[in-house]
Amino acid sequence: MSTTPAGQGAQARFSFEFFPPKTEVGEQKLAEVHKQLAALNPDFFSVTYGAGGSTRDGTRQAVMNIHQAGSNAAPHLSFGGSSEQEIVTLLNGYKELGISRLVALRGDIPSGTGGANSFFYANELIELIRRSTGEHFHIDVACYPEIHPKSDSFDSDLHYFKKKVQAGADSAITQYFYNADAYFYYVERARAAGIDVPIVPGIMPITNYTNLARFSTNCGAEIPRWMRQRLQSFGDDSESIKEFGAEVVTQLCEKLLEGGAPGLHFYTMNQYAPVSAIWNNLGLSSR
Ligand code: FAD
Repeated sequence: MSTTPAGQGAQARFSFEFFPPKTEVGEQKLAEVHKQLAALNPDFFSVTYGAGGSTRDGTRQAVMNIHQAGSNAAPHLSFGGSSEQEIVTLLNGYKELGISRLVALRGDIPSGTGGANSFFYANELIELIRRSTGEHFHIDVACYPEIHPKSDSFDSDLHYFKKKVQAGADSAITQYFYNADAYFYYVERARAAGIDVPIVPGIMPITNYTNLARFSTNCGAEIPRWMRQRLQSFGDDSESIKEFGAEVVTQLCEKLLEGGAPGLHFYTMNQYAPVSAIWNNLGLSSR
């Protein structure tokens, strides 16, 4: 390990993502995890938004709790089944709360509702945010170094990423990946296409192989064959999976930060230990 913390450049940006808990116990657990992760001094916490707006209230509540506990909170937002007016009301509510950052998405569409409203793609949501609240919010968007599973091609993926930036996105967070070269190539192609916003890698810690494999298939993230083989070989030995996961994800983060990534965004799955293991390995505790 290097003697200086990886990516400790003054501008490196670190953030943690939560999903809104569904139960009171989950809420209490999240408050505890937030407290532990807040001690690591991240730039902000983001909170996901369920498909079709299904967690609208849960997202808002979790964002309020994080904000009131003294951290910067960034709600994820998508159109889902909402009307334009409902989205504007939600935006104004966040503005009044003192929220200044959003992650704007198309969202995953719940089955049976496709095409129910005219606003759909993320670039259209960003246009509405800018139209209704000007420059108040810093807007993050999603992007896909291994290409969105529904994209026609690499070029069309970049084309629509650029549309989001032209609509007013300030920075981007990637889907998770385990191949650093995919990220560096994507950033290079994005720059060549005139996309100049920071592209922050999304990092998924590894704690459970079965869940990770299922989720990765759905979202189009590749688990390299050598990692699959190793993870499968651990069977139900979750301690070994976590140990291996912390090792390979730390190495990935080191490569990314040393190669110029502007920060890291951790998909925490509302857990402290997997993130803190990587964080400590990276020597970020002292930042
Ligand atoms: P878009 O940028 O709108 O792209 C969606 C697809 O349509 C792509 O294939 C794109 O190439 C194509 N496309 C884009 N614009 C157009 C256009 N104008 N015309 C034609 N085609 C177009 N999901 C949730 O439900 N809730 C969350 O909170 C959430 N958070 C996420 C956070 C991050 C950092 C990431 C990476 C993903 C997240 N997702 C979340 C998943 C995301 O919603 C899905 O990947 C979704 O399928 C695409 O969302 P998007 O905003 O990238 O869509």
